Amino acid sequence: MNKIDIKSLSPEELTEKMLQINEKPFRAKQLFEWLHVKNVTSFQEMRNLPKDFMEKCEEIFYIQTVTCLKERVSKLDGTRKYAFSLFDGNIIESVWMKYHHGNSICISSQAGCRMGCRFCASTIGGLKRNLLPSEMLEQIYAIKRMTKEKVSNVVVMGTGEPLDNYDNLIKFIRLLTNEKGLHIGQRSITVSTCGIVPAIYKLAGEHLQITLALSLHAATDEKRQELMPVARQYKLSEVMEACQYYFLKTGRRITFEYSLVRGVNDSMPDADNLASLIKECNCLVNLIPVNPIEERNYKESLREDILKFKNKLEKNRINVTIRREMGRDIEGACGQLRRRLTSEEKEG
Ligand code: SAH
Repeated sequence: MNKIDIKSLSPEELTEKMLQINEKPFRAKQLFEWLHVKNVTSFQEMRNLPKDFMEKCEEIFYIQTVTCLKERVSKLDGTRKYAFSLFDGNIIESVWMKYHHGNSICISSQAGCRMGCRFCASTIGGLKRNLLPSEMLEQIYAIKRMTKEKVSNVVVMGTGEPLDNYDNLIKFIRLLTNEKGLHIGQRSITVSTCGIVPAIYKLAGEHLQITLALSLHAATDEKRQELMPVARQYKLSEVMEACQYYFLKTGRRITFEYSLVRGVNDSMPDADNLASLIKECNCLVNLIPVNPIEERNYKESLREDILKFKNKLEKNRINVTIRREMGRDIEGACGQLRRRLTSEEKEG
């Protein structure tokens, strides 16, 4: 019999399982608290469980954990980057960041990615597999165990396309926000997508108050298609309509991410195009100086061009922030550390 991944079960599913194995419902409550509040990694640590019940649990369930392969701490800003290995040897990465408004963790949603964005290191080896809800949670729990720090925000902006792993993503969000678990506020969660239109409509119907971040990176279909293969499937007009729908349905302002690449998408006409594309939206633009990766020769925009770009948008009354660059000295860009560890492994 295959063991069940207990950390991916909701309190209701866990209660049901207890009834199936002739145990009292309150056992589900105890288990859920040990797993999701106290973040233990074995049944032996659950001190208030009778021995025979604990043994029964060990036979039926397994507890998902991730193993920390590497922790790198930025000397510049205290950002911590982690490489974790999963039960099948796949490697993922997560980042812990300290902001004025609290600590944030950036998690991966897939091992690898199949979206193929040109400037992104995560996609170079393709998609290995989807992460389970428990594996998304475990990135947060493992970091909590190691740092003993509080977590106030979670961003799904690490490796992978979260909306390409839709069902597991939703389960993960419901577990993370459950009042009996870590109980992160829905408004403190951001999901970043390259723009899978049908999934954005579906997400709008989940009655969640999470923030949607849409990776735009270009304001014309032609330019976007050069940078992001997914743009060949969904036109900008369709993406914008889906974002508008998400806003109307949830009342949540959309964040548009725009990575500035020198000489590619950072000119004044580019800023004009962006302004006219989004000026009717209630949105925030997050400008990200592209983080150069070894495999491509994209360069980050010059500081003065970034500021000019920002000014242009602001003149059009668009809210803009420039992403603080965190952990540049520790391979902060999406997928860089994972990529290096994976190729090190291959080389021997
Ligand atoms: N697949 C999702 C989430 C993961 S990437 C998405 O596409 O949104 C998180 C953000 O980082 C995206 O906006 C992505 O385009 C951007 N990104 C990836 N590699 C980058 C790099 N080298 N420099 C700057 N931004 C990058």
